[in-house]
Amino acid sequence: MFKTKLRICLLILIIFFSGLYAGEKVNENGLNYDVSKIAINVINKTSSKDIEYKKQILKDCGNENYTLENLSPVVGPDELTKFIKANNNNPDIYTPSEENRQNGKFRANFHIHTTNSDGSLTVEQLLNTALEYAKTLPENEYMYIAVTDHNTVLGAQDIIRVLQNNPGKYSKLRIIPGIEIFTEYKGDNSGKKDVGIHVLTWCINPYNEFLAKEFHKNNLNDKWNYMSKDFDGVIKMMKEYGIVGVAHPARYSYEMGDIRYEYAKEMLDRYIKAGKSDKPLFIEGFYQSYPDFYDVQNDKEFQKYYNYINSYADEIKINKTGSTDTHGTSIFHH
Ligand SMILES: [Zn+2]
Ligand SMILES: [Zn+2]
Repeated sequence: MFKTKLRICLLILIIFFSGLYAGEKVNENGLNYDVSKIAINVINKTSSKDIEYKKQILKDCGNENYTLENLSPVVGPDELTKFIKANNNNPDIYTPSEENRQNGKFRANFHIHTTNSDGSLTVEQLLNTALEYAKTLPENEYMYIAVTDHNTVLGAQDIIRVLQNNPGKYSKLRIIPGIEIFTEYKGDNSGKKDVGIHVLTWCINPYNEFLAKEFHKNNLNDKWNYMSKDFDGVIKMMKEYGIVGVAHPARYSYEMGDIRYEYAKEMLDRYIKAGKSDKPLFIEGFYQSYPDFYDVQNDKEFQKYYNYINSYADEIKINKTGSTDTHGTSIFHH
């Protein structure tokens, strides 16, 4: 009798776990996939790790009235990892062209500034703007956005506050608390001048004691002057607090006055060495704001350089994401 019960229990367990495994496989199939399905699958499986991430935010924010339920639009590291990997070769999802807005392919803007640094919108205005677009998407499909103010966690803290004050309002959005940090890249082998590189970090806990102390500046000048750590040091530091990436990777050599392939290669090699962990690394390979800085359409040399960076990233298994690096009043533009 006991043995029979044991067998039944075992059978139930096997069915349960094989079901989980089969579910997981759906997300692993990679490049060509239906965007909406990925978004839905990802959310339906809020992992225990992502719940822990949100619980830690609640614990550290010190406001007893805040609830886990009100944080449901917040994206945790597991969900984001799946999203990044699934969309590694899908520039459309990051491209707010007229066509992609109309057919709903535009689904993510992972680099946005607010009035907490040099952006034009408050976090609440930003969420409302993004919500307007998200409402045009079909049921159970979502718009992903990240708040990444320069050298401050205040924008990311505002996300938590706005969500708590507006229960249920932003359920069409998936929101990532982030930051963009200035770093100084030294030691380029060519011996030419040093260059400032911006490091993004997503899924941070903006109330984490260290981050809140290090990146709390209210004054914009203080924010601009944050350059106390080198590129490799910031990558090593921030990988402990979230998922790190290099912003607009094709911009830096232009700032140095010329295009140098060996510099880009060295930078990505150093990045992968410093960033090594179980989390994915990314560059903004589908960055949408180069036209604001350079004549991308006509500049063949720039295009070649940009393509080189993306293909080298593929080779050494750095993921590609994208954004408009919003500073203005619309998530569709720089
Ligand atoms: Zn930047
Ligand atoms: Zn930026």
